[in-house]
Amino acid sequence: MTTPMTGNMADQALRARALKVVPGGMYGHESTVLLPASYPQFFSRAEGAYIWDVDGNRYLDFMCAYGPNLLGYNNARVNDVAVAQLALGDTMTGPSAHFVDLAEALVGMVSHADWAMFCKNGTDATTMAMTTARAQTGKRRVLVAEGAYHGAAPWCTPMPGGIVPEERAFISKYQFNDIASLEAAVAAAGDDLAAIFAAPFKHDAFVDQFLPDPAYARRVRELCDQTGAMLVVDDVRAGFRLIRDCSWELVGVRPDLSCWGKSFANGHPISALLGSDSCREGASQIYATGSFWFAAVPMAAGVETLKILRESDYLEQSVRLGSQWRAGLDALAAKHGFALRQTGPVQMPQILFEDDPDFRVGFAWGEAMLRRGVYVHPWHNMFFCAAMTEADIAFALEAADDALGALRAQRATLEPHPVVMMMLGALAGEH
Ligand code: PMP
Repeated sequence: MTTPMTGNMADQALRARALKVVPGGMYGHESTVLLPASYPQFFSRAEGAYIWDVDGNRYLDFMCAYGPNLLGYNNARVNDVAVAQLALGDTMTGPSAHFVDLAEALVGMVSHADWAMFCKNGTDATTMAMTTARAQTGKRRVLVAEGAYHGAAPWCTPMPGGIVPEERAFISKYQFNDIASLEAAVAAAGDDLAAIFAAPFKHDAFVDQFLPDPAYARRVRELCDQTGAMLVVDDVRAGFRLIRDCSWELVGVRPDLSCWGKSFANGHPISALLGSDSCREGASQIYATGSFWFAAVPMAAGVETLKILRESDYLEQSVRLGSQWRAGLDALAAKHGFALRQTGPVQMPQILFEDDPDFRVGFAWGEAMLRRGVYVHPWHNMFFCAAMTEADIAFALEAADDALGALRAQRATLEPHPVVMMMLGALAGEH
């Protein structure tokens, strides 16, 4: 049942060339130094739930491009609309009519939102949320949860390279789901609190995931109301994967601002800041723009994607398949003598091994699955897409059965991975 691999010669050749013309050969979350050595760096094609590396190896992809693939790669309805718009025009001297269509569609779906602004990446949206909150309130301090990822700008990047402390002078930390730490951070901010950022659920890398305690979410809202600060939900990763609305509708809390990206145009490059009337004035004061932010193709793709989200059962299906995957994996882990910690919503699963502090088992599991044609991640939450089928889950479970069996035999000989140790050390230092 192991997928025959055609080697990794093309990947290796590209890596060698990249090393000469790209610092480190790759950067950020795409850097394969953060992944087991056999993971491919370069891909040639993606279709439905599958990706092919440049050597022609096919993988069932549980990463979905780290989130953007929601309906399946190369979704015909979305891409037909995108190609038709491309023939008419993409980046022009101003936006197309889709700009207004897309803003209307998002405001129509997201309960707290009265307006939308578009940008390119999630970091653009979270940074604009911060500046909007400051413009609206005239205050400076911004609270973020310890360990939460909000992007790669100096105010929020998890890695310290090239950042000076002054760039984070008005950023303070609190603990997700911990009301006392939140209240202490709010009190310390005095009368200078501009915003509280919240992840829809705790989806930090390397650790178990936690859903928001509704009492914590309600307290965030109350504290914002008492201080005049803006509540920002960063839905860049989880947006439309938990509910067809802002994720905190699930706990009955409406933010002033929400940040969106990754998936609402099914992989076409666009992100958005959505806001309530409570900060429309602030949003109209900030200077936010970019050469590619008004491109028509991703906006057309976004309008079509949202239509499909409203019409289809993509969400219910991903929950059903996610539950099958979780239950099946638990049974297989038990069969082979492993204990898994499977956390987060089933359609955005985090899969960690018990008693694996340096991730050596997780890394070996990733490599064993990869060899069997399934791309899983050893320390980042994964994603389901609507193109996955029961047959795909059966294929993945068969691969997992085989992989865990092989891993059991190998377990005593596994070594820790030096780059993971370095990364965990850097993250610990950052906190
Ligand atoms: N916020 C969250 C919650 C994210 O997961 C990400 C990306 N992983 C970002 C912000 C930043 O998005 P981008 O990488 O598109 O800038």
